[in-house]
Amino acid sequence: MIMAAKEKFAEPTYLEYGFGELEHKVIKPDICCRCGTCEAFCPRIDHVENRPDLVNYDPLCGLCFTYCPRTFLDMAAMESKLFGRTRKEDEPLGIYRKAVAAQAQPVLEAAQDGGVATALLIEAMQSGMIDCAIVTGRDDEWRTETIIATSPEEIRSAAGTKYTIHNSVMAVKDALESGYQKIGFVGTPCQIQGLRKVKLLDEPYQFGQDRIALLVGLFCMENFDYDALMNGLVKGKFGLMPKDVDRFEIKKGMFRVIDKAGKAHEVKIEETDPYTFPGCGPCFDFASELADVSVGSVGSADGWSTVLTRTDVGEKLYGDALAAGLVAEKAVSEKGLALAKRLAAGKVERFLLKSEEMKVDGIIR
Ligand SMILES: Cc1cc2nc3c(=O)[nH]c(=O)nc-3n(C[C@H](O)[C@H](O)[C@H](O)COP(=O)(O)OP(=O)(O)OC[C@H]3O[C@@H](n4cnc5c(N)ncnc54)[C@H](O)[C@@H]3O)c2cc1C
Ligand code: SF4
Ligand code: SF4
Repeated sequence: MIMAAKEKFAEPTYLEYGFGELEHKVIKPDICCRCGTCEAFCPRIDHVENRPDLVNYDPLCGLCFTYCPRTFLDMAAMESKLFGRTRKEDEPLGIYRKAVAAQAQPVLEAAQDGGVATALLIEAMQSGMIDCAIVTGRDDEWRTETIIATSPEEIRSAAGTKYTIHNSVMAVKDALESGYQKIGFVGTPCQIQGLRKVKLLDEPYQFGQDRIALLVGLFCMENFDYDALMNGLVKGKFGLMPKDVDRFEIKKGMFRVIDKAGKAHEVKIEETDPYTFPGCGPCFDFASELADVSVGSVGSADGWSTVLTRTDVGEKLYGDALAAGLVAEKAVSEKGLALAKRLAAGKVERFLLKSEEMKVDGIIR
């Protein structure tokens, strides 16, 4: 029997697509969401002047092009591999098993909502499911920094939402190099897409993707550019210095900045459009549809998180955290879930519009 070339000599499908193609198709046209996936897995790509850049000879190995979530992404193919089926029309939040409202126990003051993202990572670490957790912390000026956390204290130190883009996936490179065998990650839907692509595609690149053990995804409608948000809104409109800010939040259509004296400053969310990160435009994913477990704010009461368990890993983790008393649970209201579904559907509409405008053709939702 004659074997197909690919069976005989397994080689990556995108072998001839190097950084030049990635730059041309994704980075230069501002479609890049700065997830950090290409920077994490290619030793020749680094983060230079706030974007991925080639710092060494490019042998056209195709790895960066293959794993970037913005070059091509076929959701039906990904869902079939991950869940064994594709979504139905009435599943705008993606495929999930259980939707609940949950809250970390004891209540975590520094958390953005119910502190469930933090509690799940702590449970995963204490149970041995992961040996490190990649989390996105911040300094006093609200500049983001990735932390490879190895203790519950370090995981807790990163609680709270930073509404600025960060290439968090890049830290997977350091975690792999440091020898961690079971890496946990929490992040935005685009970051989860990059890592899930890395785990699911059949391309024969081997760099330790099996050591990525857990993906906790956040809900996300949009994210912002640090300089634009701090200069334009925080300093420009509110007259605050970033170090004076205690918390950022988006609630009931308002973007709110709470200063350290407890005073709230707010604008309608539409007024933040000039500060939105351009790469968020062609993004359809509101609820981290490819995560093991997703956590968001919409749908639950203040101080609680909406949780969607999706995979065996996510279901077990959430169940174990509940059994260990690390989270308390109550039903998520039909009204709350309907709101989350409407927002998810709205994000898909925006994606379709922006994709046409920005000539994005490789992402199929
Ligand atoms: C940019 C952004 C936009 C969001 N938009 C929405 C939205 O529109 N609707 C909604 O319901 N929820 C949204 N969320 C999710 C929400 O803000 C909370 O993160 C979520 O409800 C979990 O809350 P928690 O209390 O369980 O998390 P916590 O226990 O406080 O943990 C939060 C975790 O988020 C991670 N994190 C914080 N900032 C970033 C970042 N910039 N990039 C990657 N990881 C980060 C940290 O590592 C931390 O571990 C958004 C989150 C982000 C980061
Ligand atoms: S979207 Fe992510 S993987 Fe693609 S070019 Fe940007 S940082 Fe790299
Ligand atoms: S809107 Fe999309 S691209 Fe932007 S941070 Fe959220 S998930 Fe990433």
